[in-house]
Amino acid sequence: MKLFDVYPLFPIEPVKASGSWLWDSEGKKYLDLYGGHAVISIGHNHPHFVEALKSQLDKISFYSNSVQNSMQEKLAEKLGQLSGYNNHQLFLCNSGAEANENALKLASFVTGRKKIIAFKKAFHGRTSGAVAATDNPKIVAPFNAGHEIVFLPLNDVIAFDQAIDNTIAAVIIEGIQGVGGIQVPDDVFLKHITQKTKQAGALLILDEVQSGYGRTGKFFAHQHAGIEADLITLAKGMGNGFPIGGVMIHENIKPWSGMLGTTFGGNYLACAAGLAVLEVIEKENLMASAETLGNYWMNELQSYSTILDVRGRGLMIGFDLPESWAALRKDLLFKHFIFTGEAKPNTVRLLPSLSLTKSEADIFLEALSAELKQPAVL
Ligand code: PLP
Repeated sequence: MKLFDVYPLFPIEPVKASGSWLWDSEGKKYLDLYGGHAVISIGHNHPHFVEALKSQLDKISFYSNSVQNSMQEKLAEKLGQLSGYNNHQLFLCNSGAEANENALKLASFVTGRKKIIAFKKAFHGRTSGAVAATDNPKIVAPFNAGHEIVFLPLNDVIAFDQAIDNTIAAVIIEGIQGVGGIQVPDDVFLKHITQKTKQAGALLILDEVQSGYGRTGKFFAHQHAGIEADLITLAKGMGNGFPIGGVMIHENIKPWSGMLGTTFGGNYLACAAGLAVLEVIEKENLMASAETLGNYWMNELQSYSTILDVRGRGLMIGFDLPESWAALRKDLLFKHFIFTGEAKPNTVRLLPSLSLTKSEADIFLEALSAELKQPAVL
């Protein structure tokens, strides 16, 4: 059987990984500043993570959610402690889209409404409900997911005030827009929409799938604005590569049996991975490190005259170049062996492991300097 050909692939096959490094099948070594879309949070194959998975495999890897599973409780407790959201409740699932689907569903259950406010250029996933809240014509499917979605420009208070009323079930917003090119919501905007959403009797959903898990220097990106969300969605960095997602749910939202469901969500291996990630973030002080290195990179990037704009927080950084520099990402990969991400060809995204070191950060800056001194490749 052939693979369904939907991903543009680099002709590189990674066969080994450690920390921020990957090795391909020809023995070439690459610096990974992308982590497979912000997934590698504590570093590839961190020894504590590997050990946690191995020792869980020796006990039990899977059983359905019809039995008690204290691993889920341990994970929920640690997550509450590190995120500061001790009073929220945790529902575990398998991916970011699934987390958002469940959050939207919860908002409709709670409010009895189906209208959602989302923001232009946001990305929330590729399943039916979540995709309908995603302003990307390439992936919006031609069917009605059951929610009516209003798309607003990010950071536009006037547009928001005109749209929010007591027909709205939820407002869904990314802590920092990732796929949309690292667009940061203003702190004042976040404060404003939190207050107005509450007044309208709607729920605020913070999609922290990409921006969460310590990446920005706080556990969640929205915590820089000093706000609290009713529902917070998680995935990516949560399992450092092991598929796991979750929704953190306000204590006022009362569960009833069958309200949400999943087969694989919260399985023992996923919980072991999730718990190990949190333990490493705490023990190695990775949130502080993400903030320090992020500030360092942002300052350095701002000093390049070729770079048009630098955005982000902590280790979630995007920068724009003139369109003539669209080949930069490929040059970084094939000439300097550095993986980065992109939003569009001339917008580079940096989403490395939070365990990145200063000397690894400098390897990137040296490669960038070498490239940007050269004339643009058209
Ligand atoms: N939300 C955000 C902010 C994302 O960046 C993504 C994926 O890139 C998703 C949701 C969807 O997550 P998944 O691919 O795990 O379904």
